[in-house]
Amino acid sequence: MSANPEEYRFFEVVQGYIEQAAALTGLPSHVKAILAEPKNELIIHFPVRMDSGEMRVFKGYRVQHNNVMGPYKGGMRYHEQVTLNELKALATQMTWKCALLGIPFGGGKGGIKFKPREHSIDELRRITRRFTHALGSNIGPSHDIPAPDMGTNSQTMVWMMDTYINTGPTYEKNDQRAVVTGKTINSGGSEGREAATGQGVVHCIKEWARENRFDLEGATAIVQGFGNVGSNASVLLAKLGVSTIATGDHSGYLRNEEGFNAHKLQDYVQANGSIAGYPRGDKITRKEFFETKADLFIPAALENQVGAEEANNLKVRLIAEGANGPINPDGAAVLADRGVPVIPDILANAGGVTVSYYEWVQNRNSEHWDSEEVQRRLLHMIRRAYQRTMFYATEKKIDPRIAAYSLALESLATSYAERGIFP
Ligand code: GLU
Repeated sequence: MSANPEEYRFFEVVQGYIEQAAALTGLPSHVKAILAEPKNELIIHFPVRMDSGEMRVFKGYRVQHNNVMGPYKGGMRYHEQVTLNELKALATQMTWKCALLGIPFGGGKGGIKFKPREHSIDELRRITRRFTHALGSNIGPSHDIPAPDMGTNSQTMVWMMDTYINTGPTYEKNDQRAVVTGKTINSGGSEGREAATGQGVVHCIKEWARENRFDLEGATAIVQGFGNVGSNASVLLAKLGVSTIATGDHSGYLRNEEGFNAHKLQDYVQANGSIAGYPRGDKITRKEFFETKADLFIPAALENQVGAEEANNLKVRLIAEGANGPINPDGAAVLADRGVPVIPDILANAGGVTVSYYEWVQNRNSEHWDSEEVQRRLLHMIRRAYQRTMFYATEKKIDPRIAAYSLALESLATSYAERGIFP
């Protein structure tokens, strides 16, 4: 299987992990059948007026995979490559991510298939508001709670919240802020949510370094994708003395053997939309990026970026998956052969949904926790999930990815066993 996004059947790949975990945990066949498919798959076509006056019809999605542990939860992706198959995979992964972390949410994912970079801020606002309105009561603070993902941010979430609140009953308005998470702090967001996914990745790397007596001070990293996850991981790693020596995004790849100033590069990307034109780095090819010798590799872009070829070329000691599904099964097999450890996505990037959960709790209780409180809780939850996953993997002599899927599946199966099937 090559790393070609056009042909990739991501959902079937995730179903494969579930199969393996189900065989290992002895899951009853009816529970496997329930979890094998999402509960709801919603596709909406909606018109929006462009700045030019022209009307354009967009295709929006919301996949609700499972809600046995709590309301559906997961991001909204704005990207030209969005497909139903991809969102089904991502929604399924959210069910597993929440179950692994012990967060009382299920899994969902949605988005719109378009190129957000080609639209003005006014168009993005109208697209988001019309999409939220079209979703109507298919989302809600106790039902399905969207969050940022690729191509969306805290501003997108505030527009969604405002649209949802304004179309609901007046007396409930303030109760409804929890309809989305990842909002700006001013509009009900949590401290620490913006950098939370990157922070979770770094907590996992620190745990690995401690267990393997590896000194992070002076270490190097390569980071694919310099959006929210990649840039925050890079900034937080810099604080630990780890320098990012190569990075890349949709515009191309850059290398700087001395290490990038992660803060400056983050500011540059925020202002310019990509790393293109950043002056302090040499242009390299995608292949050269994957061949760059470094201690850590953080894939933080799209799924299916590491196939067999990339896996063979990588010269790193550890991979921490900031993205969802960045390594395809062929890439994973090569890495396993070569003995390169991988901290799997549903563990490594769970910091985002963890702080989303804290945001939801704060909204519901009309509280605002300080940054120390959020960080203390986040560290505790990520560390616990990391330890449980690695212990299980060692005990059963299995890959950490399948260990993470199995642990999550055990909680889901217990829930089904306790509740039974209605009626
Ligand atoms: N989109 C993020 C993820 O894939 C965050 C989801 C959330 O905060 O609900 O985990």
